[in-house]
Amino acid sequence: MRQRIAVVGSGPAGLTFARVLHRHGHPVTLLERDPSPDARPPGGTLDLHEGLGQRALDKAGLLAGFHALARPEGQALRILDPDGTVLRDWRPHPDDRAHPEIDRGQLRDLLLGPLDVRWGRGVTEVVPGARDGVLVRFADGREETFDLVAGADGAWSRVRPAVSPVTPHYTGVTFVETSLDDVDTRHPALARLIGDGSVGVYGVNRGLVAQRNSGGHVKVYAQFRAPLDRHPDPSDVEAVRSRLLALFDGWAEPVLDLLRHGTAFVHRPLHVLPVSHTWTHVAGVTLLGDAAHLMPPLGAGANLAMLDGAELAESLATGPGEPDEIVRAFEERMWARAGTWAKITEAGLERLVSPDPAEALAFFDEVQPS
Ligand SMILES: Cc1cc2nc3c(=O)[nH]c(=O)nc-3n(C[C@H](O)[C@H](O)[C@H](O)COP(=O)(O)OP(=O)(O)OC[C@H]3O[C@@H](n4cnc5c(N)ncnc54)[C@H](O)[C@@H]3O)c2cc1C
Repeated sequence: MRQRIAVVGSGPAGLTFARVLHRHGHPVTLLERDPSPDARPPGGTLDLHEGLGQRALDKAGLLAGFHALARPEGQALRILDPDGTVLRDWRPHPDDRAHPEIDRGQLRDLLLGPLDVRWGRGVTEVVPGARDGVLVRFADGREETFDLVAGADGAWSRVRPAVSPVTPHYTGVTFVETSLDDVDTRHPALARLIGDGSVGVYGVNRGLVAQRNSGGHVKVYAQFRAPLDRHPDPSDVEAVRSRLLALFDGWAEPVLDLLRHGTAFVHRPLHVLPVSHTWTHVAGVTLLGDAAHLMPPLGAGANLAMLDGAELAESLATGPGEPDEIVRAFEERMWARAGTWAKITEAGLERLVSPDPAEALAFFDEVQPS
């Protein structure tokens, strides 16, 4: 196969796709809008599941590298009720490799390795059926043509309109993210509350989750239902903090300290694509990861994105079949897998941010190993 292949986006989907093609000696053009790998904070921690993200890393030849960096102890999970009572305290067995955590930045660097990314190449439009293949237009006015363009450009994909008119819709749930640094030295009581992994506190229609990253860094997510247009200006840190403290009024003081000590706040209104998002196959263009199947962030999105990328790349590199037939078959497999997870995560979000907090506990009792 000597196709001109481009992938748009260097998130988990695009990087895994490019890395698996690279492993098989196939050239790929990796186009990324960000001007450099460190242009934005890389985000929090990800748990990579054995059958999903870890399978993808295996196809990339990076599973050992992952285990060298990953935090199996990060699989620990504690559930509290709003008055601070510990309801569940799951701790992984030292050999448990079901879904260890890794910082997003570490995962990105592991996948990047020898890849040659074209930074600062924001794509504005992809036009299939051009004379010499699929035309890619860039924000700086340049154009380039490829035989296959994989859109791995996330929730607000600029590649998606080439295959599907569908756009994400708001779930009604917003996460507000904040961070704590050096938690073990600066906030030892919070470090004990969070433990080695995550702590989740669930009340009526809201929750507070804190996740340990490497190096004593902690990400905190306040989760609640809110209209999309009623978010305060996130740059007014103290105004956001006051609103959040009012929203969680009456919760145990140590839990509220997660908000009191948080630094900047980032609003993440959760958008999703319809549960069974598919499209009529278009020769020369496909989608991977969130661009194809954006779903609530309940521990599957990056895993699925990576497996999408790895599977398509491996099939293209090793065949058998014509590239277009390979892409068609891949799309069918991706849609079936993503549809299953979209149903699980949408139902999960309803249960975690629920009028009945017992639903959140029941959800974890079902998904956590006993
Ligand atoms: C708060 C939160 C917590 C989460 N936790 C988890 C978790 O624990 N486990 C899990 O599996 N998933 C988790 N997810 C979901 C996960 O982050 C996504 O599913 C995953 O990042 C999708 O990967 P992707 O490569 O498809 O897209 P993205 O990660 O969004 O990457 C897209 C890339 O494309 C680039 N790009 C965008 N537009 C263009 C353009 N026009 N031209 C060129 N480049 C472009 C972007 O800069 C970016 O680099 C979480 C999500 C959130 C919001």
